[in-house]
Amino acid sequence: MDFKKIFSFIKKDNSAEKITCKKCGAEHTVAQLREKLYICPDCGVYMRIGALDRIALTVDEGSFAELDADMKSTNIIGFPEYEDKLSKAEAASKLNEAVVCGTAAISGNKCCIFVMDSNFMMGSMGTVVGEKITRLFEKATKENLPVVGFTTSGGARMQEGILSLMQMAKVSGAVRYHSDSGNLYITVLTDPTTGGVTASFAMLGDIIIAEPKALIGFAGQRVIEQTTGQKLPAGFQRAEFQLEHGFVDMVEKRETLRATIGNLLSIHSK
Ligand SMILES: [Zn+2]
Repeated sequence: MDFKKIFSFIKKDNSAEKITCKKCGAEHTVAQLREKLYICPDCGVYMRIGALDRIALTVDEGSFAELDADMKSTNIIGFPEYEDKLSKAEAASKLNEAVVCGTAAISGNKCCIFVMDSNFMMGSMGTVVGEKITRLFEKATKENLPVVGFTTSGGARMQEGILSLMQMAKVSGAVRYHSDSGNLYITVLTDPTTGGVTASFAMLGDIIIAEPKALIGFAGQRVIEQTTGQKLPAGFQRAEFQLEHGFVDMVEKRETLRATIGNLLSIHSK
């Protein structure tokens, strides 16, 4: 793979930057991790992938064109210190928001794609995340394109109050119009996909794929145990558990994920 070419849309070259594996503590450069699809070469754990790297590792070389790149959140309800949190999130993720949207091709199939990024306020969904994904679905409906979406989120963004919860209904409505026009929607649930994102567009895919061991749920394990007074089973809310209980359609390894998405798009192309 020619990573320089693939990553041409990444503004600053960070391939020499080092990342420490949270499980085993080993250090690897971004370049090394890209080669391994961010699977730790030492312990095999799936590390989280930023939105731009995920796009580069998924779409056909040079095919990605970003949409609504400059849309940014503002402190609409005057929540204390929200501006600070936003600028820290921008610095940590090198993104303007917690989702990147655009058009691309995967195995030659044109599609719309959105990828959430956990480095931006834990991928929380505020008005801009909701608006960008809604616009993407509207474009996909108009142009008869499938949508591929990678989710990772801690849920709705509390700093935007009820307006962030409203995004669940707004995006779901746009997904419905897209579905009614006969177009395919594939979701890939990555670690972690929780809260309002799980309770709306993450679960509305025609085909729902999950990455191995990804945490997928609505409320956290501790909250459920405290509320119900019951002990939860081992592996609760992990991808494999959710597959067994019919919540997701397949658990797919990173090595074959790109080919599988390409294959699904080819089968469903009109
Ligand atoms: Zn490791």
